[in-house]
Amino acid sequence: MISAEEAIEKLKEGNRLYTSIDTFQSDISAQTLEHFAKNGQEPYAIIISCSDSRVIPERVFHAAIGDLFTIRVAGNVIDDHQLGSIEYAAGHLGTNLIVVLGHTGCGAVAAAIHHDPSGFIKYITDEIKQAIGEETDDYKAAVLNVRQSIRHIEDSLEIQKDEAKGLKVVGAIYRIEDGTVEFLEEESDTAKQTQIRRIREMEAIFDRVQEWLKKTEDPVPNAEIRELLGKLSEYYESPLWKEDFAADEAGKLPKDLKRGVLSEDGIYNLLENYMK
Ligand SMILES: [Zn+2]
Repeated sequence: MISAEEAIEKLKEGNRLYTSIDTFQSDISAQTLEHFAKNGQEPYAIIISCSDSRVIPERVFHAAIGDLFTIRVAGNVIDDHQLGSIEYAAGHLGTNLIVVLGHTGCGAVAAAIHHDPSGFIKYITDEIKQAIGEETDDYKAAVLNVRQSIRHIEDSLEIQKDEAKGLKVVGAIYRIEDGTVEFLEEESDTAKQTQIRRIREMEAIFDRVQEWLKKTEDPVPNAEIRELLGKLSEYYESPLWKEDFAADEAGKLPKDLKRGVLSEDGIYNLLENYMK
């Protein structure tokens, strides 16, 4: 199986081809069908795209039979069934790249911005509303919606295991106006990683203090514990704690992250009792 980086290059090359030709041809010969029927599939990318009839991943990336494992749902939103499909392809077929492909002129995004639909459509637009907040720009909203789907995918413990082995989850926007695909920067992911690392560090300190509390007969903190309590107190008083707490409230943090320091009661009670 090719790596995530190689897969991205292949998709970019496919899209360059797509935007430079006027008609599409694909090998659907009897031999090809027979080959894949006999040998199974080894798709090099998992694509989550909108159902929009103008966004056809296999065409957009000039891909053939067996190339792409595609999930299409209006608004490229992620729920349990989509996540199950993604986990299957990543875990069982060994695909190393996941692309959430949003697009300009998306009806689902527009509906989330301008309307409050009824019926089952509401499940999709409510999900998108959560991603875009007050954003009304079509392109920016599409990007925010892609980023939210990426977060849902990366919250999966199975996906996190695959990420440790080289799997990558990236976002991209397809422009229906000219057929080009723009791969999104991962910058916000760097900020998110820093935030998660910080919370994990604070959790480790919180755990160490809790452990001491369980064992001690003498509730007066020793020098080591006093220093750790000082670090926790500094964090709790800083804007960073408010930022981390808000990110947690907004569902932006991985589900498996421990919440000792982010539970207001937990950290507040601890500091209240021992900082005297
Ligand atoms: Zn759409």
